[in-house]
Amino acid sequence: MSETTLALAGNPNSGKTTLFNALTGARQHVGNYPGVTVEKKEGVHVHEDRRFKIVDLPGTYSLTAYSLEEVVARDFLVNEKPAAVIDIVDAANLERNLYLTLQFMELGVPVIVALNMIDVAQQRGISIDTEKLSRLLDVPVVATIARRGEGKAELIEVTERIVGEGLKPQALDISYGKDIDQALAEMEAQITAAGLLTDVYRARWVALKYMENDEQILSLGRKADPQLSASLEAIVAKVTDHLKATHDLYPEAVIADHRYGFIKSILQQGVLSVKHDRDRLYLSDRIDSVLTNRFAGPLIMLAVVWGLYQFTFTYSALPVTWLEGFFGWLGGMAEVYLPDGLIKSLLISGIIDGVGGVLGFVPLIMFMFLGIAFLEDSGYMARVAFMLDRVFRVFGLHGSSVMAFIVSGGIAGGCAVPGVMATRTLKSKRERLATLLTVPFMNCGAKLPVFALLVAAFFASHEALVMFIITLVSWAGALLVAKLLRSTVVKGESTPFVMELPPYRLPTFKGLLIHTWERTWQYVRKAGTVILGISVVLWALMTFPGAPDAVQQQFETERQTLLTAAPAVAQEINNAFEGASLSAAAETLQGELDGIAAREAEAALRYSVAGRIGTALESLSQWAGFDWRTNIALVGGFAAKEVVVSTLGTAYSLGEVDTEETGSLSEKLARAPGWRPLTAISLIVFTMFYAPCFVSVVCIAREAGGWKWGAFSMVFNTVLAFTLAVVVYQAGSLLGF
Ligand code: GDP
Ligand code: MG
Repeated sequence: MSETTLALAGNPNSGKTTLFNALTGARQHVGNYPGVTVEKKEGVHVHEDRRFKIVDLPGTYSLTAYSLEEVVARDFLVNEKPAAVIDIVDAANLERNLYLTLQFMELGVPVIVALNMIDVAQQRGISIDTEKLSRLLDVPVVATIARRGEGKAELIEVTERIVGEGLKPQALDISYGKDIDQALAEMEAQITAAGLLTDVYRARWVALKYMENDEQILSLGRKADPQLSASLEAIVAKVTDHLKATHDLYPEAVIADHRYGFIKSILQQGVLSVKHDRDRLYLSDRIDSVLTNRFAGPLIMLAVVWGLYQFTFTYSALPVTWLEGFFGWLGGMAEVYLPDGLIKSLLISGIIDGVGGVLGFVPLIMFMFLGIAFLEDSGYMARVAFMLDRVFRVFGLHGSSVMAFIVSGGIAGGCAVPGVMATRTLKSKRERLATLLTVPFMNCGAKLPVFALLVAAFFASHEALVMFIITLVSWAGALLVAKLLRSTVVKGESTPFVMELPPYRLPTFKGLLIHTWERTWQYVRKAGTVILGISVVLWALMTFPGAPDAVQQQFETERQTLLTAAPAVAQEINNAFEGASLSAAAETLQGELDGIAAREAEAALRYSVAGRIGTALESLSQWAGFDWRTNIALVGGFAAKEVVVSTLGTAYSLGEVDTEETGSLSEKLARAPGWRPLTAISLIVFTMFYAPCFVSVVCIAREAGGWKWGAFSMVFNTVLAFTLAVVVYQAGSLLGF
């Protein structure tokens, strides 16, 4: 049986995976492309006496060398020379999808277009003349509905015929306008004469890539023939200057315009006819003229975010109190019914006061997620990205960066891990790096309980306002750092951004519930697994080895001295039962005894492993107003930010004696000596900016292509955070706060 390799390519979400599954069934194999983390899926389809090995290329919009996916797809086509590319085109977004098709044709590989999602196109009133499209493009076009397997058989038949004939198509040469065409011709001649890279690529294609400033081809060319490369680059520079002067455009933009022009001209020749879904589009447009208005839009956006926080804090206040009450009750029961000892301490201080502190905020998280789900499902979040694109450009970021920021918790409650992954849609490596290094500054779901705790303890009457300010500060910080990075370590040009705005939709109740539930459950599950595990470890670090015998002895002596000095009063305390009123002398003695017990508990914590670390850091951290207990929590926060809350819970639980005065952790913090609103602000600032959690660091290292960047983000962020916290704390102290 003869074996033939086919590549499956197309834009993301065009139905590639669906078609791949339909063609190969269970005969699949998943691996990686050599040397990179891009997933490579292979499968087999047997048709009569031919075995088709089908490779699912990464989904891309283009074939430039801006993103890893594009380089992988291109390299595969050039090096492995598949017999044909099955290019999946989303019929509902024909114009944008054909942009990629055109680039396959320019590369000169045999293309078969699978015109997919015909059903969706029909629903939207789009009809496409497949035959005419095929004739004008000069490639076979087969209509498919991958989800139902329709058109699969015909697609394979056509492929069989193309492969069987073994015809190599004429590569497509588009005109890019007089200036560029002239330069390309000149360059093509030089490239052909010297044979630069022509063993793999067509000469005109190499010239085109030089014109497009393609990093991969540029560096290959420079290595192969520095002199010729310099001469080609000089031609490009001349055209670039000319185009800049006459049209204020870069060659890349002119080239893209002409490609789209080519597509438009094909579509207008009766290939595409659209019966508009007028009403919805019209309504969306009208809404957009207000919501994305240059002046009103940003104000409305701020109001929406403000409203979200107001909504969240107002409606979650009561359920949060209930939950805190529940954990308080649970702790009380454990206090009464469990025998003293390590197990009791682990259960109360490590688990109930630690993890319970994180779980206490579940209602708040839930309301926040509900609001976010509404903004996303309605289509408003896309508008936020659209509006912020203008701002982002100023700071050297890209429109697609906005989405990564929002996913990471830009408004609230996201996660930096998917945020870092979302930067994959960024084409420019530099913009991508700047984005993925700054998304961890957003207020992810793990930081929320930390902020909520501190806000509840010190700014209880202005919760929404403080949360709003926190959000603004985190964005300002992220953008300024991005600007700093883009003008130092990752300097370079910006790339253009086109964004489609989906029509507004009224979210369905079910959709909102599902989204809210998914995310809330994720939060709860993380608290019950990862955070629980870390809490137990931290409890152990905060418990062992305990105070040395000599120190314990000292407290015991102190106690005995007091008791023997006034035996009658001691006797009274001993005999009194819970809740009985004591004489004035007994009250005083009890107070003194409690004082000793408190100092004893504090000493035990101080002498523990974690306590020693916290104390050692105190000489430095005091500049930001953090005492040794806070230091323990912050060190724990390197693992995951929720741990800051659980660790503070454990620390204040271990150090606590007088059970009658317990309350929620926020109440304890508000009462604790050494804590004031300024301390809370300093801690909020530090938590906002310091090292990303462990999982995020791993993810950053992987996506940025090296541990260097993971380490960079840990060190840089922590130094930045500490500096800011010190500035805030010192300035605040000077001003008398
Ligand atoms: P990929 O990103 O290109 O791999 O796209 P997927 O194969 O994951 O498909 C994206 C979505 O489109 C999935 O929800 C599919 O079920 C759906 N889909 C794929 N092909 C069709 C189609 O022909 N018609 C419709 N209505 N949906 C489709
Ligand atoms: Mg896929």
